[in-house]
Formats: sequence, C-alpha cells, structure tokens
Amino acid sequence: MADFDVIVLGGGPGGYLAAERLGHAGKKVLLIEKDALGGTCLNVGCIPTKSLLNSAKLYSHALHSAQFGVTATGVEYDWAKVQEWKADVVGKLVAGVGAAEKRAGVEVIKAHGTLISAGVVEVNGERKTADHVIIATGSVPVMPPIPGVKGNPLVVDSTGLLAIEAVPKRLAVIGGGVIGVEFASLFAAFGAEVVVIEMLPEIVPFADPDLAARLRKALTGVKFALGCKVTGIEGATVSYENGKGETVRVEADLVLMAVGRRPLTDGWGAAEAGLEVGPKGVVVDDTMRTNLPNVWAVGDVTGRSLLAHAAYRMGEIAAAHIIDPIKATSAGQRLRTATIPWAVYSIPEAAGVGLTEAQAKTDGREVLTAIVPLAVSGRFVAENGVRAPGAVKIIADAASRTVLGIHLLGNYAPETIWGAAAILETELTIDDLRQVVFPHPTVSEGIREAAWAVRD
Ligand SMILES: Cc1cc2nc3c(=O)[nH]c(=O)nc-3n(C[C@H](O)[C@H](O)[C@H](O)COP(=O)(O)OP(=O)(O)OC[C@H]3O[C@@H](n4cnc5c(N)ncnc54)[C@H](O)[C@@H]3O)c2cc1C
Repeated sequence: MADFDVIVLGGGPGGYLAAERLGHAGKKVLLIEKDALGGTCLNVGCIPTKSLLNSAKLYSHALHSAQFGVTATGVEYDWAKVQEWKADVVGKLVAGVGAAEKRAGVEVIKAHGTLISAGVVEVNGERKTADHVIIATGSVPVMPPIPGVKGNPLVVDSTGLLAIEAVPKRLAVIGGGVIGVEFASLFAAFGAEVVVIEMLPEIVPFADPDLAARLRKALTGVKFALGCKVTGIEGATVSYENGKGETVRVEADLVLMAVGRRPLTDGWGAAEAGLEVGPKGVVVDDTMRTNLPNVWAVGDVTGRSLLAHAAYRMGEIAAAHIIDPIKATSAGQRLRTATIPWAVYSIPEAAGVGLTEAQAKTDGREVLTAIVPLAVSGRFVAENGVRAPGAVKIIADAASRTVLGIHLLGNYAPETIWGAAAILETELTIDDLRQVVFPHPTVSEGIREAAWAVRD
C-alpha cells in the first residue's frame, strides 16, 4: 500500500487548492512546499501587488479628491508603512492557507521535493509513495540574455521590485504585459517617472487593441516606447532600438525586467522521471493528466495559462478526476482556456475574457462588435466623472450571435469580468444577454449597453 493517496509538489494556488479539495474528500494527502505556502501568488505576485496598488489608489484618490468636494491637505505616503501593510496582508493570507490545509487534514512538509517516477517522490532524503502525484511547481521570472542584465543590481525582477526600500525617482519597465503595466501604474501613482519599453506594437497583448490603446493613454504618469527592442543596459540606463532603427537611451534609477515568466520544469526530476515537457511546460490533456500514469500537472508549470485563477481551476479539475473519475468525466470537468478571464489592476483597471475582434476574424468568423463608453453607467460617472476613461467592447459571432469576447476598461472591471466569463461559458447570444437584468446603477451595466449597441 502506498504511503499516501496523493502527493502534491508545490504549494501555490494550483497545488494548495488541489490538496485541500482532496483532503476534504477523505484522501490522505501530502503537500510538499520548499518555500512558503501560497506560492508566487500570495507571497510575491497577486496579493503583494494588489496591497501596494491599494495604497497607491488611496494616495491618488486623496490627491485628486477636490473635484468630489473633499479637500485633503498634507497628503503624503510612508513607504515603510505601505510595505508593512503588504507584509501584514501576505502574512495573514499565508497563515490562512496553512490553517485551511490543516482543516482538510493535509500533511504539509516544508522541503524541496523530487519526482522519482510515477507514484514516487523524494523529500528530505526519503522516498514517499502515492497512488497519484500532482505537479504544481509554478513558474519563475525570465531574465533575457540582454547585455548588462546579468549580475546588475539595478535590474530587478518583480520579486526584487516588491521588496525595495524606497520608491525610485525614475523607473524603466521592460515589458508592457500585465505585470509591467501594474508596476508602472503603481510607481507612477507614487510619483516616480516611469517609462515602459515594449517590443510589440501595443501593451497587454491579450486585450483587444482598441481597449489596450485606451488603457495605455489612461495610465497617468507613464510614458511608453512601443515596438522598441532593448539592446543593452548599463547601470540603470536602458538602450533600445526604436521602429526607425535609431538607438535611444533612457536614464533611470532602477530597471524592472518584466518580459514574462517560464514554467518551472527543471530541478525536480521531470526529465529523469520521463515526464513529457514541451516548449510551453509540462504537457497535459484537458483533465490535467500527464504522459505518466497517475501523474497530473496543474497551474503555471503547464504553461496553459499563467494566472492564479486558472491554476485554481486546474487544481480542482485534477482533484475531481482523482476523487471520482466517472463523475468528473460526466460532469465535464475539463480545462476550457477560452473562457479564462484576465485582469489588470492598474489605475484605471481593465479586464477581459474571450476573443479580441482580430482573433475572431483570424478564426475566419464574421463578427458583430460594439464599443460603448462607461459614461453610459450612472455609477461610473458618479464616481469618476463623465470624461474618465472607461469602455466596454463586445464581440459576437455574426451568424449565431453568440458572444465571443467581452473586454472592459475602467474601475471594477476585474470584479465584473466573472459575469462575462459566465456569459461565454454558457454560450449566451447577444439576444440572451439583452434579457439579463443587471443591477442599477452599476458599472457592469456597460456590458448590457454594449449588447444593445450591437446592430441587429
Ligand atoms: C508580480 C506578479 C503579479 C501577479 N498578479 C496576478 C494577478 O493579479 N492575478 C493572477 O491571476 N495571477 C497573477 N500572477 C500570476 C500568479 O501568481 C500565478 O499564475 C500563480 O501563482 C500560479 O500558481 P501555481 O500554483 O501554478 O504556481 P506558484 O504560485 O508559482 O507556486 C508554485 C510553488 O511550488 C513550489 N515549488 C517549486 N518547485 C518545488 C519543489 N521541487 N519542491 C517543493 N516545492 C516546489 C514553489 O516554491 C512555489 O511556492 C502574478 C504573478 C506575479 C509574478
């Protein structure tokens, strides 16, 4: 008999939620985490960034409150306290994960684990066996081989930037994806001069370019160099080649490297155990099965989606198939990447789900689209003013009128987007959506207005 029903390698969102679900289902589970429970998301990702962004938003609101009839004088921020708030939030949530695992009866070992073969994991020099193994080792930041990056203390990744002791006067951000944009917005709000250098023609590549362009213009205090390739860094001076082939130099005090993350597929025995690893990560099917019997992989390590909520879902899917494969299959427990929403918690926020207009057309579809300003929402106007940046774009298939994508710009977008994901999951048409009653006044009403703005 095996030592455990399931061994989970990695205690981030994918791993800890899978362990919890399995524990509550009566499985004997071992969760191995080499660092801190909660993984990237809780310790150096989603949560610390949102804690800092919340302070940035409060500071920014206080500075700009006069238009709402509230005068705040002597508005200042205290970076040490901002960092204390972040640490307190992270500490409480990490402790919460530990308590949740305990409640689920999951045994947790803090150590590096190595997959030896299907059903065998080595930890602290001991081999533990299990009927199933779930790999959830996550991802790590990419540091590209640009001259001047390696060993340069003025070039940091997201983890390094989260820990800085003072806001830099000038920050250069390399990469205009979600992480780059969030940090750019956050530090600009705290008064840093920020420039984002992005190789692609637009920021946030999964956003519909119409809304991505509006988001870019709305990011107060952030300058952008788009379609530009960084060629070298000296100290904190970044050289890049612009679209005309000219070399431009940007002087900064600190450089954030935010060009992406790569699945952590090495250092824990994948190759030695014969696990199939492709260019994107550990290869899995839609039920999270790998090529090895009873070895599953979830979260960033699969490269299927590098988002925490996708990791949660993948963990749940693997757990469901381990607990009761027949029930899980008949319930359609499988990963549907097309309906995973994304969000940017910058000032202002943005979020989206599904196809962009260009992606739908590349798929060979004829599309119906509408874009409406959030000035259609009474709540949005009351809280931001009529000229504030905010919009909803909807994309539907012209033949079936099924909604294919919904993209939002404006505050509350990340809170609203789950509804759009549900619209796509349930394959609602524009006409179905028009019959859904939205609460008034809410920012989400913009989605309804966009559905009515689609031509018949
Ligand atoms: C700055 C930043 C901001 C982000 N913001 C968001 C956001 O707002 N929303 C969002 O959805 N996503 C966000 N993400 C992405 C999110 O953090 C990841 O998608 C998520 O953490 C992936 O979860 P995971 O369980 O797959 O892996 P991880 O969270 O990376 O966890 C993997 C864990 O495995 C452990 N591990 C690895 N190898 C071993 C081993 N051999 N033995 C034992 N333990 C091991 C690691 O220590 C780690 O704790 C952000 C990421 C960053 C960097």
